[in-house]
Formats: sequence, C-alpha cells, structure tokens
Amino acid sequence: MPAPDVIVVGLGAMGSAAAWQLARRGRRVLGFDRFSPPHTMGSTHGRSRIIREAYFEHPGYVPLLRRAYECWAQLEQESGRRLLRQTGGLMAGPESGVLFTGARRSALEHGLPHEVLTAAEIRRRFPGFTPPDDTVGLLEPRAGMLWPEGCVEAALELARGAGAELRTGEAVTSWRADGDGVSVTSAGGTHRAPRLILSAGPWMPSLLGARGRALQVERQLFHWFAAARNAEMFRPERCPVAVWEYAPDRIFATQPDAGDGLKAGIHHEGETTDPEHVRREPTAEDESAMRRLVERYMPDAAGRVLEARVCLYTNTPDHHFLIDVHPDHPQVILASPCSGHGFKFASVIGEILADLATEGHSRFDLSPFALSRLGNVF
Ligand SMILES: Cc1cc2nc3c(=O)[nH]c(=O)nc-3n(C[C@H](O)[C@H](O)[C@H](O)COP(=O)(O)OP(=O)(O)OC[C@H]3O[C@@H](n4cnc5c(N)ncnc54)[C@H](O)[C@@H]3O)c2cc1C
Repeated sequence: MPAPDVIVVGLGAMGSAAAWQLARRGRRVLGFDRFSPPHTMGSTHGRSRIIREAYFEHPGYVPLLRRAYECWAQLEQESGRRLLRQTGGLMAGPESGVLFTGARRSALEHGLPHEVLTAAEIRRRFPGFTPPDDTVGLLEPRAGMLWPEGCVEAALELARGAGAELRTGEAVTSWRADGDGVSVTSAGGTHRAPRLILSAGPWMPSLLGARGRALQVERQLFHWFAAARNAEMFRPERCPVAVWEYAPDRIFATQPDAGDGLKAGIHHEGETTDPEHVRREPTAEDESAMRRLVERYMPDAAGRVLEARVCLYTNTPDHHFLIDVHPDHPQVILASPCSGHGFKFASVIGEILADLATEGHSRFDLSPFALSRLGNVF
C-alpha cells in the first residue's frame, strides 16, 4: 500500500465508522486494532445498543442524531445488512426528573414526534411495565435498537472493500507528532501519515499520557433475563426500548427480548477501573442490583438470568463526548470517550472524524465536545 493519508488507531465503534467514511471518499487508510473487532474486550459488545432521539442529555445532540440515522441507513444500504430495528422508545420517570424533562425539552425544541403518557397509560399500552404512580413517560416512535457487532463488521468490510488496510491483533505502542505528520509504532514497525485518528475507547487514557488524566473508565454490566411469565409482552413488536429514572438522576435501561431475553443495564454507578485490571466476571451482587429494578418495573420479565457481561464506559467529567483535535498537535484527532451513550452516534462520528481529517472542520458544532471545556484538567 502507498503511504496512508490517515492512520486510525482503534477499530471499534468509532474507528470502524471513521475508516469506512474515509475509505469511501477514496482516502488511503491504515487502521490498527489490538484485537479483532467486533470483540468483547472494549465498549462495543453485547448484541444491541439503544438509539433514541428525544435526547435527555442535551438538545444539542439532536442534529447529530438526525444525521446518525441517515448514516446508519447508508451503512445498511451499502452493506446489505439490517442494522437497526425501530421499536419506539419510552423515557420514564418523575415529571420533574432529569430524564423526562430533558427528553421533553429536546422533543419540543426540535419538533420531534412524541406522546406523553401517565403511569396508568404506560401500564395499559405496555402491560409488561409496572412503573410507580408518579411516573410520566415520553414515548418517541423512531427509537430502537442497533446491532453493534454487525455495525462494526459492516463498516470494516466496506472500508476493506474500498482499499483500507486494517491490521487486527496489532496494538499501537506509541505515536509521535512531528512537522505536519505523525509516526505511529506497532509491532509491525513505524508508519507515517499526515493525519492520525485516536479512537481507542477505554484505552484512550493510555494513549494520551498526561492529557488522558481527566478520562475515567467505568465497569458496567448487561443482564439478559428470561421472562418469568407472559414472555410475549417483552417482544420487540409489543415492547419499546425504555430508559427509567428510578431515583433522582439514577437511570437504568431495558431493551425488548429479540430472542435472547430482555436486556437490562444500570447506567453508570460502576467502579472506576481500566481495561487491563477490570473484573471481567459478573458477580452475584451485580445480578441482584439489576434484578431488584427489573422486579420493580417489569416483574413478569424477571425470570432467571440467561447471560451477563461486563463492558466498559470511557467517561469525561461532565459525561458529554470528547471529539476534538489534539491541543498540541492539529494533525491528531481525538474521539471516543463517549461516557456510555456514544454508540448510536458512531455512524455520524465516523463522518465527523473523516471531515476533520480531510477538510479540517465539521459542519456540526463540536464546541460542546472540545477539550478546552475540561479546563486546565487537559
Ligand atoms: C454496558 C454498556 C451499554 C451501553 N449502551 C449504549 C446504548 O444503549 N446506546 C448507546 O448509544 N451507547 C451505549 N453504550 C456506549 C457505546 O457502546 C460506546 O460509546 C461505544 O461503543 C464506544 O466505542 P469506541 O469506538 O469508543 O470503543 P471500542 O468499540 O471499545 O473501540 C476501541 C478499540 O480500540 C482498540 N484499541 C485500544 N487500544 C489500542 C491500541 N493501542 N492499538 C490498537 N488498537 C487499540 C480496542 O481493541 C477497541 O477495538 C454502552 C456502553 C456499555 C459499556
């Protein structure tokens, strides 16, 4: 391969999408991954991810989401795979809580189709759900589930098909920016390119040295439950994806049973760790914390646990994303600390990274994701 235009380090959710977007523009891409994505060691395993649009985290994400849906459709079309299933999405909690107020604000500011349901209406519409009486839910029709392993595979296949050289099982051990390019070293040698994208997920702190100090990796769990009764109520045709605020600012999410059980996960509340030392085995305490919530909000779903998995979040201090050029080296682009809510955006983040690498700018306002907001931590 002639000298690459862009080196991509990390070919998970963000890096695979960036490699695809660059390769389809005719750019020469050299990509590295320490494993062979999709794999179970980082942040992108577990067979499903929620996509939703009435974004409680901030209305500023909605334009990105609109483009993300378009880019997922493009990936489906180019790969011939089905990657997204719309089930509708319910954001439910106390009326004054962060989840409902944030989702409603996004829906109203951006004119998103939605309905507001009382607790009684939620129980009637979705008989598997038994929320407390003070619950209010925002139901949005376009939400649903993405298949993350399929998305990564599709993006990598298309990138390879368009000429990208993607080396798996080959970790990058160091990188250096000099002049107007970068040198990247792996077991296979040292490689030069004008641009570098660092999208190493939970390994970002180790690649960023002192500048990665603000990032924290967090241990997270998924559990898949067999229904105890009325399994049909939890099938995707009858059950939306749901995000629940079960105590002030404390959230868990559920996804319908697409053939392998109802999936549930608590958002945050995990221990700080790193990918080398994380306790990768789920424990009985992990299961009972999850079971308590499933029993309370959908008791018929709380049968035996079919499977549990540990996964990793890479958090910024404010839980918004980090997508920016490196403050000292404009030829180096940083992405992927997505604080546990980034997968749905991977398709558009891939496009943004490709724009930054080729045009030097993005049409989206990336200031909320800038390093500088983290103050002198960076
Ligand atoms: C439990 C859980 C539930 C989640 N639920 C949702 C959800 O419902 N909806 C949603 O939108 N998001 C969700 N997320 C978040 C989302 O999955 C992540 O934001 C996203 O997958 C992160 O992708 P990434 O590319 O940054 O990391 P990864 O996919 O982990 O990719 C990083 C890659 O870099 C490689 N790498 C690391 N170091 C090196 C190196 N030195 N050299 C070469 N390669 C290297 C790794 O092997 C890895 O493949 C969830 C995350 C978890 C853990």
